[in-house]
Amino acid sequence: MSERIFIGVAWPYADGPLHLGHIAGAYLPPDIFARYHRIKGNEVLMVSGSDQHGTPITIKAEQEGKAPGQIATQYHQQFLDSWQKLGISFDLFTNTGTANHAEVAHDIFLTLLHRGYIYKATVSQPYCPHCQRFLSDRYIEGTCPYCTSSGARGDQCDECGKPINPIELIDPRCRLCATTPQFKDSEHFFLKLTAFEDRLLAWVKQQTHWRQNVLNFTTRYLEQGLKDRAITRDIEWGIPVPVDGFENKRIYVWFEAVIGYLSATKEWARSSGDEERWRSFWQDKDVKSYYFIGKDNIAFHTIIWPAMLMGYGNLNLPYDVPANEFLTIEGKRLSTSRNWAVWLPDYLSRYDPDPLRYLLSINMPETGDTDFSWREFVRRNNDELVATYGNLVHRVLTFTYRRFDGCVPEPGEFDDLSQKVLAYAKEQIFNDMGDLLSECHFKAAILNAMFLAHETNRYLDEKSPWKTIKQDRQAAATALYVAITVLSALSTVLYPFLPFSSQKLRGFLGFEGNIEDYGWKLNSPPPGQRLLSPEPLFSKLDEGLVEEETGRLGARC
Ligand SMILES: [Zn+2]
Ligand SMILES: [Zn+2]
Repeated sequence: MSERIFIGVAWPYADGPLHLGHIAGAYLPPDIFARYHRIKGNEVLMVSGSDQHGTPITIKAEQEGKAPGQIATQYHQQFLDSWQKLGISFDLFTNTGTANHAEVAHDIFLTLLHRGYIYKATVSQPYCPHCQRFLSDRYIEGTCPYCTSSGARGDQCDECGKPINPIELIDPRCRLCATTPQFKDSEHFFLKLTAFEDRLLAWVKQQTHWRQNVLNFTTRYLEQGLKDRAITRDIEWGIPVPVDGFENKRIYVWFEAVIGYLSATKEWARSSGDEERWRSFWQDKDVKSYYFIGKDNIAFHTIIWPAMLMGYGNLNLPYDVPANEFLTIEGKRLSTSRNWAVWLPDYLSRYDPDPLRYLLSINMPETGDTDFSWREFVRRNNDELVATYGNLVHRVLTFTYRRFDGCVPEPGEFDDLSQKVLAYAKEQIFNDMGDLLSECHFKAAILNAMFLAHETNRYLDEKSPWKTIKQDRQAAATALYVAITVLSALSTVLYPFLPFSSQKLRGFLGFEGNIEDYGWKLNSPPPGQRLLSPEPLFSKLDEGLVEEETGRLGARC
């Protein structure tokens, strides 16, 4: 019985490179989840794209003297390259600059407008008399009214994380020329969130399977009472407002970016040759839709996007929004402006993808913030990936390859201990990890796999086939057969986390083709199957890199 799973992934702003905070928060978890469901035989659609609109991009473009579209295209290409190198397996990673996306956004905008869920109102907006422009969101800065931090913006304070209305800022100034803005009237469209308050509360109450942090945040937010929110801006870069008289305004980025989940599905359907296929992921009630995001994005996915979907009608609401907490770097809050970040393209230019995927999985900020440090990166790589898992693989395969003519040996009778290990590798590991993965408990799931590797090392220490082979070749063959069975199980259960090394290990075990085609079950190589000449799966990292890498943090690029 195969399931259909929709996976929506946060849309990164195309205004700068990705960093490890993005990956731990929103990009590695859905990839693990998607790979698990695919290998299980479920039909998965995982989509996202780069967010090409919004003031972060226009500000970056002005700083670099380029057009916003140029900046967006440049980083979109870089994102695609990073996904490929890190193995983030999107079915489609598009962008919000496509004609298709604008068309779908207009359809939703106009439908909500006709149904009375979007209305027009006049509001007072900050305006710079010197620059002669309205100052949307990031174009206005000042002191945060909540935490008195000096770098708060017109949409949010990064220091305390609170959303801000520009009028609340203390000592507001134009970001471009530092002039104190005036407030001028401007006509805008508003999303009538208040109309959805009761429906949302009732719906959220049913979501008992959500993570506690997501459920608590959403419930608190709803109980404080919703406010209607402006969804257009006085800017030139973005999706035009499909209403006469609004030619100088654009749809605000947060309103159209969430629509990307639907528009990306439509784009995917069209390129698959069946334009109507998007319905199978959005209108079939049996499909579960998961949204993977960082915790700063929860309200958009548990309140605003569901409200838009309710207003539009006949589209699936989110089933789960497993938002992650934050990743700190060397004990400090990640800051892109202070360059206190580990940039993904830098990482990928120097190291393999699987060690990073391993560390971020086993240290995933699922229920609280976690820390990334280079020392921990080296330690986990050397002591766990190399010494526990890699060494298990290497000692079993090289010894078997050398002493049993490069073939899986024929086992003799299994004693109790061997039977216990085999039973674990045959069934229990798949059941235990399958349950955890399907509930998005990634950290606990990978710990199970590492426990099996650890126990199998102990099994081999006890059986010590490298010694017994001299007196009892059959006993050695049996122990190695058991260990090879475990390796086969590990290649499958670790595949969602470590796709590159898992595929490689499959090859060493003598299997051909894509590991995903073998299913979420044990495929043990039968006695006599030819093995491939093994190589180490992982390499030891030099302690010296810790100092070198931490030295780059906070430095000017
Ligand atoms: Zn603040
Ligand atoms: Zn100005």
